[in-house]
Amino acid sequence: MIDSPFENLPHNSPLQPVRLELDDKIQFRCHKDIACFNECCKKIDISLTPYDILCLQKHLNLTSNEFLSQYTIPFEMDKDGLPGVKIKTTVENPACPFLQQDGCSVYEARPTVCRYYALGLMSMRKEKSSTDENAYFLVKEEHCLGHDEERKISVLNYREEQGVDQYDDINREWRQLILKKRSAGPTIGKPSERSLKFFFLCSYNFDSFRVFTQSENFSEVYDLTTAEIEQLNTDDIALLKFGSKLLKQVLFGEMTIAIKDDAVQKRVQRRREQIQANPDDPNANYDGPEVV
Ligand code: SF4
Ligand code: SF4
Repeated sequence: MIDSPFENLPHNSPLQPVRLELDDKIQFRCHKDIACFNECCKKIDISLTPYDILCLQKHLNLTSNEFLSQYTIPFEMDKDGLPGVKIKTTVENPACPFLQQDGCSVYEARPTVCRYYALGLMSMRKEKSSTDENAYFLVKEEHCLGHDEERKISVLNYREEQGVDQYDDINREWRQLILKKRSAGPTIGKPSERSLKFFFLCSYNFDSFRVFTQSENFSEVYDLTTAEIEQLNTDDIALLKFGSKLLKQVLFGEMTIAIKDDAVQKRVQRRREQIQANPDDPNANYDGPEVV
């Protein structure tokens, strides 16, 4: 059994404590002529997924570094400091930076959280299960008048209308990784600083991650075909998905990417050379994944 996701909700929580399935109907419609138009974007707390970042940076024609530094702030997703990113706001101005008078200026590339609203999604994993389960629920906030509109729509159709299927599909492996990290608890221990930085690189900073996949350090270890390498060089979504796979391999030992036979010997040799060249360098004795 999965524990109820609604236990311990504070009494004033906007989450409606009823679990919804895909064919359940909600009464909700958001449109430009509604009196509360833009209200929900005036005070935000929006975490971004890898695909959100990719879509937004492309829409804004920015590099990953430019997008991350201009529009996001880092935060820690768990007590081990697993890095996440949120849309940047300030105490003085908690509104979304993409909000304009006539609505969302990045509407076609709006993040997953904005697409889901007023549906909430909770992903859970049963103990000892390798698959995750989604629970939906309604978020009813006082300022949002969309719940008073007459339209009824199933959760399934609402997901389709808002285009979340594609976002969830592309982020699936990354979300599984987060769930796995959570459900593993203390058994895998706290990832090293270097692993946390590597998580950030693979999850959010696609331009730098691509440079890494083109490096000698990478090709010395990972045994990819020419076609696979070409795909990582040219296909952003393939690169994103590969990043999640690589993280699963590095953090959890899920070996889905082939390693070259002599990779371990080369690593040991390089570490020896590092120690000889600079015995005081703390990285010389680093015992984590040789990835960056
Ligand atoms: S990205 Fe668009 S929809 Fe989402 S909070 Fe910002 S302005 Fe609103
Ligand atoms: S109906 Fe709700 S989601 Fe739509 S603009 Fe109003 S507050 Fe935002």
